[in-house]
Amino acid sequence: MYFEDLKGKRILITGSTMGIGLAAAQAFAQLGAKVGLNGRRKPENLDTLLADLRSKGGEAEFFQADIASTADCERMVSEFVARFGGIDVLINNAGGLVARKPLDQIDDAFFADVINVNVRSALMTTRFALPHLKAAAQASGKTSSVILVGSIAGHTGGGPGASLYGATKAALHNVQKNWVDYHSGDGIRFNTVSPGTVDTAFHADKTAETKARIASGIPLGRLGQAEDIAPAFVFLASHAASGYITGQIIDVNGGQFMP
Ligand code: NAP
Repeated sequence: MYFEDLKGKRILITGSTMGIGLAAAQAFAQLGAKVGLNGRRKPENLDTLLADLRSKGGEAEFFQADIASTADCERMVSEFVARFGGIDVLINNAGGLVARKPLDQIDDAFFADVINVNVRSALMTTRFALPHLKAAAQASGKTSSVILVGSIAGHTGGGPGASLYGATKAALHNVQKNWVDYHSGDGIRFNTVSPGTVDTAFHADKTAETKARIASGIPLGRLGQAEDIAPAFVFLASHAASGYITGQIIDVNGGQFMP
């Protein structure tokens, strides 16, 4: 009953051709939403991905864009709006380590790359989506929703070589506070989903032994799966479920870290 309001909602999810973003897209499609997938590359199995989302009951389209680039963020938002007629929910999910580099190896180019993919991306995509989210809220009388994807690293500082990544995620944890202060009047809510260690391509550099060691330190005894994160997005996207929740971080981490 709470999530029925997501039927027909127009939901743009950055970085959603695999991993956490794709699992979220699948959950929204099951609820009858209109979902925009995004990635830098067109996935080889794109037709299958889209057919699967459509067969679940949703509408789905792919928007190729490198959201580290402001111009691409603007183009992606306008292409999504041209296809679906507006935006009700924006999920700023794309992000990543770029590489693991200790402090003495961080140069200007690496600094720019990590900031661009994690912070510029979310800020610029939100910037261009804002008028559409506001218009959707005005038309429906319900709140629109922006969801950021933070990280356990944004709380702890990050693992080896991930100091800059951790700092960008802390920036995302923080920036929504300002947006809540200055854009709640537009009928938009801003929240963050902050995952712990989730077993996606993000951790492709780790051996099975390393993953088992990390899992043994997690109170729920296992790494997260992308499907563990999706319900938090569904909750924060639904006005019926979370219409009075804004400016919050939901940590989905099996107890790995308790802020
Ligand atoms: P993933 O499996 O590596 O998937 C990343 C997705 O983002 C892919 O669809 C990728 O497609 C896309 N992407 C990457 N860079 C992009 C760019 N510049 N522009 C557009 N799309 C881009 O990653 P994940 O584990 O699902 O992570 C998703 C989010 O959760 C990230 O923000 C990550 O920082 C955060 N997170 C992950 C974990 C974890 O343990 N996995 C923990 C905490 C937070 P292309 O490669 O084709 O661009």
